[in-house]
Amino acid sequence: MSIQFREEIKNIQPYKPGKPIEDVKREYNIQKVVKLASNENPLGCSPKVKEAIIQALDKLAIYPDGNNTDLKNLLAKKHSVEVDNILPSSGSDEMIDLIAKTFINKDDEVIMADITFPRYMQTTIMMGGTPVIVPLKEFTFDLDGILEKISPKTKIIWICNPNNPTGTMITEKDFVEFLDKVPPYVLVVSDEAYREYVTRDDYPFNSIELTKKYENLLVMRTFSKAYGLAGIRVAYTVGHKEVLQYINRVRGPFNVSSLAQVAAMAAIEDDEFLKKAYDTNLQGKNFLYEEFDRLSLHYVPSETNHILVDVGRDGQEVFMELQKRGVIIRPMTGNYIRVSIGTMEENRFFVENLKEVLKKGQ
Ligand SMILES: *Cc1c(COP(=O)(O)O)cnc(C)c1O
Repeated sequence: MSIQFREEIKNIQPYKPGKPIEDVKREYNIQKVVKLASNENPLGCSPKVKEAIIQALDKLAIYPDGNNTDLKNLLAKKHSVEVDNILPSSGSDEMIDLIAKTFINKDDEVIMADITFPRYMQTTIMMGGTPVIVPLKEFTFDLDGILEKISPKTKIIWICNPNNPTGTMITEKDFVEFLDKVPPYVLVVSDEAYREYVTRDDYPFNSIELTKKYENLLVMRTFSKAYGLAGIRVAYTVGHKEVLQYINRVRGPFNVSSLAQVAAMAAIEDDEFLKKAYDTNLQGKNFLYEEFDRLSLHYVPSETNHILVDVGRDGQEVFMELQKRGVIIRPMTGNYIRVSIGTMEENRFFVENLKEVLKKGQ
């Protein structure tokens, strides 16, 4: 191949998706397959979203509103901010990409945790930036360790709160103390993909309010998790209008589809669905905690819809054994797996099979 690729791209691994449910059924010749691997909402989405999408189907020939006017207005009202403080995107995945493209120059430093969401690292490398890794402490963000790593070259700090895959959170008090110490030339992005599942009351539920005081803070929210809309790709970011204006120059003109826009608007209006998602998750979480306790497996208490568990055996091996039995989870490094919390029926199916797999390995 004589085409030259950008040097930075050579160090990036493509995203490895898990096997689709249908492939697992075929490969292992089984009828029932439960996927608890991608932190999706086991309840699906609000029926109001489906209605809104059906209504919007008549307009598929027309480009979406590139300004996302209605969605932005609704979000601005919901969060008591100005319309210019909001920027929707095609999932927060796209926003991570846009933020990297807008801010990272070659050799800029970008601080992130380990383990955390992998896209922060990949987009940094893609732009020729230098990832600066601060390992988690007791599975939680080490904010003092992050502050110590700030240098004149630091451009962005990625905060995932609560964190994927550990499910741990940063408290409001710690977050505010941290923001007070971050110099104003460093952008802090708080990725709050799982905030709707948080049960503790010392979480920074006021993060959007904080963006009014801290001009260098961006808050990312998504409809992919608790709202159950992972397939349609819609999220939004709140922050200082000047910061968002620059990101706005980088995005594609129609990055959020018309169906995604109406879906998000309908989803926001259905508090009842969100409550049901929260309750189902909490019930499932407590059930899994009890079962892990019974099996003497260490797990990290989670503020999300997934749990990091030490299965006492190679996670990859347990993943393969579970998959054969029709349960798809996510293997992590060493003896850890990450399991998404499903419906009670799915949770029971997972536990039954996990017991079998662990018994067999003894
Ligand atoms: C799932 C997830 C995302 C991706 O969300 P989309 O809006 O679907 O792109 C972003 N950040 C974290 C931490 C996630 O777990």
